[in-house]
Amino acid sequence: MAKTSDKSPPLELTTPVQFVKGCGGPRAEQLGRLGVHTVRDLLFFFPRGYQDLTDLRDIDQLEEGPLLSVLGTVEEVELRDSGGGRSVLGVLLRQGAGFLRALWFNQPFLREKYRRGQLLLVSGKARRRGIRWEMVHPHVQVVDVEDDATAAPTVVTPSQLLPIYPLTEGLAMRHVRQLVRRVLDDCADQLEEVFPQSFLEQKQLWPISAALRQLHFPDDQASLEHARRRFVYQELLVLQLALALKRRQMHDALRATPLELTAKIDARIRRLFPFDLTAGQNQAVAEIAADMGRPQPMNRLLQGDVGSGKTIVAVYAMLLAVAHQTQVVLMAPTEVLARQHAETLDRLLAGSHTRLGLLTGGQSTRVRQDLLARIASGEIQIVVGTQAVVASDVPFARLGLVVIDEQHKFGVRQRAALKNSAVHPHYLVMTATPIPRTVTMTLFGDLDVTTLSDSPPGRQNTHTYLPPAEERGRWWEFFRKKLREGRQGYVVAPLVADGGGETETLGETVPADEDELANEETSPVATASLEAAYESLANGELEAFRLGLIHGRMTPGEKHAVMSAFRQGDIQVLVATSVVEVGVDVPNATLMTIESAERFGLAQLHQLRGRVSRGSFPGYCCLFANAANEAAVERLQAFVNSTDGFRLAELDFSLRGPGNLLGTRQHGLPPLRIADLVRDAATVEEARLDARRLVELDPQLTQPEHALLRRMALVRYGKSLDLADVG
Ligand code: ADP
Ligand code: MG
Repeated sequence: MAKTSDKSPPLELTTPVQFVKGCGGPRAEQLGRLGVHTVRDLLFFFPRGYQDLTDLRDIDQLEEGPLLSVLGTVEEVELRDSGGGRSVLGVLLRQGAGFLRALWFNQPFLREKYRRGQLLLVSGKARRRGIRWEMVHPHVQVVDVEDDATAAPTVVTPSQLLPIYPLTEGLAMRHVRQLVRRVLDDCADQLEEVFPQSFLEQKQLWPISAALRQLHFPDDQASLEHARRRFVYQELLVLQLALALKRRQMHDALRATPLELTAKIDARIRRLFPFDLTAGQNQAVAEIAADMGRPQPMNRLLQGDVGSGKTIVAVYAMLLAVAHQTQVVLMAPTEVLARQHAETLDRLLAGSHTRLGLLTGGQSTRVRQDLLARIASGEIQIVVGTQAVVASDVPFARLGLVVIDEQHKFGVRQRAALKNSAVHPHYLVMTATPIPRTVTMTLFGDLDVTTLSDSPPGRQNTHTYLPPAEERGRWWEFFRKKLREGRQGYVVAPLVADGGGETETLGETVPADEDELANEETSPVATASLEAAYESLANGELEAFRLGLIHGRMTPGEKHAVMSAFRQGDIQVLVATSVVEVGVDVPNATLMTIESAERFGLAQLHQLRGRVSRGSFPGYCCLFANAANEAAVERLQAFVNSTDGFRLAELDFSLRGPGNLLGTRQHGLPPLRIADLVRDAATVEEARLDARRLVELDPQLTQPEHALLRRMALVRYGKSLDLADVG
């Protein structure tokens, strides 16, 4: 038992929590489980919410609607079993002659927390039930403290916001509040200010200790906002500084071969193209060529809506590099896509002498060795492959340009850095899907950005439908009619994983590794659901047509065979998982049916719809959804009403968060403790501008007043951004 007494040494920021008064026994261990080990950790243990006691009411003054708090004594605690594993816990509070029942559904373990006679402060939305008031799942504070004589009684004063901390078993809210209050009183003044004084004034940020006090125990809502703003800004500035340092490092420290664009090269490249570039594509090409002409490596992100024609812009850059006798590598996230790119390039380059090599996972050692030798000798000028296959050991003779297609992860670009020499290649990165501005600034904050804002001419809009189930027949009738006219189509269904209810939505559009979503699709049960869909179509609605099936459990070779047959029209309808979502380009396919659409995110649906608006025929996209899920239907309605990928991405992001937008596993966004890319969008922009300005003035942040900011940027992001040599 660690016991503190008056003789104990004064607390410092690095002191382990067990030496904080009141933190003896199991307390320190419990805090440790929450990642709180030192006094500093405790100071920065941010509340996850606040209990608003501002509106403390008597029971006879309650009303429906606003958040209110009520102080009352426990009269009765009743746990009712409603069958099927369900339960209702009711705690009846009395205040004078008034009663309020607090209710919890399916949390029987809470029963242990409450006893007759306890004084409780409950906050939530009240609703009237007959003569009685109810609150469902309110926040509760046990005001009564008779069981813990050492603890100071919590004084409840109205007009107060109480912090709500994450808890763990055995640790009560009031304990954490007391401990935080104690270290705030004793140690907050020891914290070093991160920002220079002038900065605090100019940005109207509260000094660190004042802000920290108000963040934990705000005087009122306005103070809380002010305090929060300081830490949100700090967190985002540190991140943006790291990104700005990275950008600076790539610009200044590295040398690249300048690959200048001449009129002659330009004409030679354009001659190979089957169509004229759009104004947007020309603008993008100009920006990219300007970058590539410099002796520092280009680091540019090319983004544009699905189908906006990014590939041809990248091909232009590739041919510019080839014209200078340097080699190019094009990396795609999946093998389906890598092969598609190789075929596109093959077709375009049929009339030129450019030599192309495709590296895939399935190749034999002999074939691979042969390809590597021809790359090493410089004979092969363009290498296409998946990131995993190309990444490490390809011995380029003279690498000039790296193109990464459909990328949206943070900090992985440099890992694709390939064999380094003193001279670095230029980098062009393309995003997989439109992503919200704040996400771009975070994931790709170290890159320069080009946005394609138009789309190829003659592009027809895609018609999107969300019909009720009873109109399925009509859709299939239409589907068949279009097939007979010569068009092709997709039917996409989510995988239904083991156990029936749960579903893999393949939220991850770009898999972490090369096996193309195989991880998500390894369950035979899941694949069975897709195979069943295929069977029922093949024997039903689409009986008369040639169907193909594609999913992640097939080998790359099998997938390739199916994709080729589809591309050539031998297969008319492709029944698929969302493995087809990214990048697949078959302009004659204009029909898209999405089953159980409510299981997909908006960004993902937009990707899928993007498969059928790529040629001169109009596309048709039909969503079938479970109408019982109202929120989902509303979301889908928004999708029907908009074809703007960037807008849908914003919406998806605000509704479902980064995990669903970018893929649950490794979405790549850095963990943020207090900032929120949706809520704090304006601050993201502000921090980015400020960070770039700061790094312009003080490129390595070596001035003493920037030392702390620099250290924080390095500690938090040095590793993931490979900032080592800045330190
Ligand atoms: P994404 O930006 O989604 O990667 P792609 O590069 O695959 O889109 O292009 C989509 C389709 O548009 C392709 O079939 C491509 O050949 C075609 N395309 C691109 N640019 C033009 C253009 N300027 N004129 C006509 N068709 C174009
Ligand atoms: Mg593409």
